[in-house]
Amino acid sequence: MEKNSFSINELKRDLKKMDYHYMAIELTDVCNIGCRFCCNVGGGKRGVLSEDGLQILLNMSKKLDFKGIGFTGGECTLYPYWGKIKQIVREEKIGYSLITNGYWAKDFLATYEILEDLKNNNLNSITVSYDDYHREYVKEQNLKEIIKCTHLLNIPLEIQSVTFTDSNLRWLNKLLEDGYDLRITFFPGYKIGGAQRFDDSKFIRKQSPNSQFCGKNKTLFFDCAGNCYPCCSPSIEKTELKIGNIYKNSFSDIVNTLQKNPILYIIRNYGFDPFLKYCNIIGLKYPDKVINGCEICSFLFSKENYFRFIQYAKKTVEEQINENKWIIEGFDC
Ligand code: SF4
Ligand code: SF4
Repeated sequence: MEKNSFSINELKRDLKKMDYHYMAIELTDVCNIGCRFCCNVGGGKRGVLSEDGLQILLNMSKKLDFKGIGFTGGECTLYPYWGKIKQIVREEKIGYSLITNGYWAKDFLATYEILEDLKNNNLNSITVSYDDYHREYVKEQNLKEIIKCTHLLNIPLEIQSVTFTDSNLRWLNKLLEDGYDLRITFFPGYKIGGAQRFDDSKFIRKQSPNSQFCGKNKTLFFDCAGNCYPCCSPSIEKTELKIGNIYKNSFSDIVNTLQKNPILYIIRNYGFDPFLKYCNIIGLKYPDKVINGCEICSFLFSKENYFRFIQYAKKTVEEQINENKWIIEGFDC
C-alpha cells in the first residue's frame, strides 16, 4: 500500500537526498515599478501571501531545517505583514535573504536605518535587481547608497542583472566609481511576461536544446497564492510542473509529488534528450537554439504541451526500472 504521510524526519531525509536546502517565498507579486521585461506582466494579480500562509511556510522551514529562506516579489518590501515576519524570525531564530529593486534607498540615512533594522531582525544577505530596465525607474544613486550601507553594516550584497543582446552596461561604471568590491551576477532574459513582446533577436540563444539537463536550483519556490514549484527559475511558472499548494496539500504531499514526478526525474538525471526524441516521433517541432535548459523545459512542459509528455514520461520510467536500466531507489530524484 502506498504511504502518503511521512514523519518530519522522513521529510527532512527525503529533501536532503534530493538536494533541496532552500525555500524561496514570493511575498507579493505587486510592484511599484514596471520593468518592461518583468515576468509578472500579464500574469494576473494574485496579490499578497496571507498571514496564515506566511506562518505555515516559516514553521515548515524551521521544522525541516532549511538552510535558508529568500523573500522575493514583486517588490517584497511592499508586503504588508513585515511586522509578522520580524516577530516569527526573531522568535524562531530564522535567517533570511531578500531581493528588492532598491526604490526605498532614497538617501544615506533612510537606507542605513532600513538596513540596520532588517539586520537586527535576522537579515543574512540582500540582492538588488538592476539592469537597463530597472534603471528606467531606480537611480544608480539608490544602489550606491545600498552598496555603502551594506558595506558599513557588513551585510553581504549581490546585484542581479538580466541581460539581452542589446544590453548596455554603462551604469556599471557609475557603481564601480566608489571603489567597493561588488558581486554582480548576470542572467539571460527569458521570453516570458512583458518580454514576450520583445523581438526574438533580443534573446541570447546560443545553446542547442540537445544534451541540456535541468539545472535544478535546489530551491522550493512558493508563489504568493501558495502554489509550490520545484525550482525558482522564472520559466517554471510557464510550465505545468507545479507540485502542490500549501492551502490544499500537506507538506508530505508536496514532497511526495516532488519525488514521484517522472518528468522531473528524467530531466534531472537523463536530461531533455528523451523528450526531444519523442518530439521527433510525434512531429512536434522544438527550437534549434535555446537560452538554456529552462527555456526548453518551459516549451516542452507548457500548458499546451505537457499532456503530450506526462504519459510518455511515466511509461519510460516504468520500462527502464523493469529492465533494470535505471536504478531508481523509491523512484525519487
Ligand atoms: S522590480 Fe522586479 S517585480 Fe518589479 S517590475 Fe521590475 S522585474 Fe518586475
Ligand atoms: S529546467 Fe525546468 S525544472 Fe529545471 S530549473 Fe529549469 S525550469 Fe526548473
